[in-house]
Amino acid sequence: MSELISWEDARERVLSRIHPLPPIEVAVLEALGLAAAENVTSPEDHPPFANSAVDGFAVRSADTAHASKDNPAHLSVIASRPAGHADFLRIQSGQAVRIMTGAPFPDGADAVVMIEDTDNWDEAAGRGRTVAAQAATGKAEGFQVAIFKPAQPGQNVRPKGEAVHNGDSLLETGHVIRAPEIGLLISTGVKTIRVHPKPRVAVLSSGDEIVPADKEPGPGQIRDSNRPAVLAALKRRGFQTLDLGLIPDDEAQLTRAVRRGVAESDFIISSGGVSVGDRDLTHNVLSGLGRVNAFKVAMRPGKPQVFGEIENVPVYGLPGNPVSALVVLDVFVLPTLRKMSGWRDVLRPFFMARLGWPIQRKAGRTEFVRVHLQTENGGWMARSTGPQGSGILASMTRANGYAILPAAAEHLEAGAHVLCMLWED
Ligand code: AMP
Ligand code: MG
Repeated sequence: MSELISWEDARERVLSRIHPLPPIEVAVLEALGLAAAENVTSPEDHPPFANSAVDGFAVRSADTAHASKDNPAHLSVIASRPAGHADFLRIQSGQAVRIMTGAPFPDGADAVVMIEDTDNWDEAAGRGRTVAAQAATGKAEGFQVAIFKPAQPGQNVRPKGEAVHNGDSLLETGHVIRAPEIGLLISTGVKTIRVHPKPRVAVLSSGDEIVPADKEPGPGQIRDSNRPAVLAALKRRGFQTLDLGLIPDDEAQLTRAVRRGVAESDFIISSGGVSVGDRDLTHNVLSGLGRVNAFKVAMRPGKPQVFGEIENVPVYGLPGNPVSALVVLDVFVLPTLRKMSGWRDVLRPFFMARLGWPIQRKAGRTEFVRVHLQTENGGWMARSTGPQGSGILASMTRANGYAILPAAAEHLEAGAHVLCMLWED
């Protein structure tokens, strides 16, 4: 196929051929980084009992209606309730309970007054400081706290089920489990969850001129940097990997490596050999083994690509140039792997940023420019990280994202707004 297709079309064509791996059931802690394969509802109310949101005094708000600094409400403190203590307590009008954050809320009370809005309380002694204050109300029982601000009903009280009610949705199919999800599931007593496993990804690189990292390159040779970089990108994101090695431009050896990948993994990534040189065998070999197409995407870098399936195992042929390989990995392969992992949101968020420099270019292909993105004057600013050649990894190491220049643009002023994408940390 020699017709150029847009990068969005290419991505959608690839994604439409991908299906999530069959679900498995795992303990909640094992689900980190995986997508839910079911809608999960809460089996309980959380919090399971009404409790105090602050350290203070549980009161009946009506008792404090006229309280002020000059004329505090004096309430008898009938008990002190730390968190974790649930013995039955009921307060009557004129009474209060010293209560700590997270302690069960006493019956009869409807608000908690923060310790800062009270006076006359001796924490060390656990009682009111003066007897005079008690005398002022004429009440004999207990010690008293002076409250100098009216409490609103419900103030600083966390009702039972405030966070989630029994039966509420906790998360939906395709939602990825991160730290807050682990906390939410555990807090509501969810023990196991059905998730999609992540694919095991096999990686090979190809090329007669390439030598493994532990060999010194001879004349005309370079080190294999794609395989280590691609394996690293996958491991960083929690994929299991299978290293199929460095394969010379030889049909039989390439076939053997790909067959091993099909047998032992869920997804195969190769690099090199996807353009039209007479040693570019990747497409020939892969299309001989399954339903695999070569296509050209109207983008720079990363134009030639190969994608398809061999016995239901998706295969992606990245271009050999090191920057092209990683751009295609970011823009196409990672969304594909996320879809296979059952993620609902497979794309990184895009946003607009201002260009930090003017650009004069040839229209025709969407360009993924490696940039450093930062906020400046209340908006995003994208600055070039240097020479953008498809073999120049250094400008990628200084970048934290892409500026995506529209295919039709010929001239972009400094300050022009362009679509950008921030990489993961
Ligand atoms: P190819 O796609 O095989 O035509 O390769 C395109 C360019 O990328 C050539 O300059 C190759 O030498 C280079 N290249 C291919 N594979 C790798 C690799 N694994 N590591 C580093 N450079 C590579
Ligand atoms: Mg090659």
